[in-house]
Amino acid sequence: MAHQPEHPRLYVCNACQTVHAGTVVEHTDSGHHYEAPDGCGACRESEFTPIEDWPHRHD
Ligand SMILES: [Zn+2]
Repeated sequence: MAHQPEHPRLYVCNACQTVHAGTVVEHTDSGHHYEAPDGCGACRESEFTPIEDWPHRHD
């Protein structure tokens, strides 16, 4: 199978809903391990939701 470019994981700020690319924290044989940013660049919120989970968060 051809090598596929990896898409960085995306996270949504819980407070202002700005989308951030995850930070690479580890390089593994299977790719990179991503983690949410330390804080939102827009509002300094530190809680993020992985973007794939975001559509389920309609309370
Ligand atoms: Zn924010």
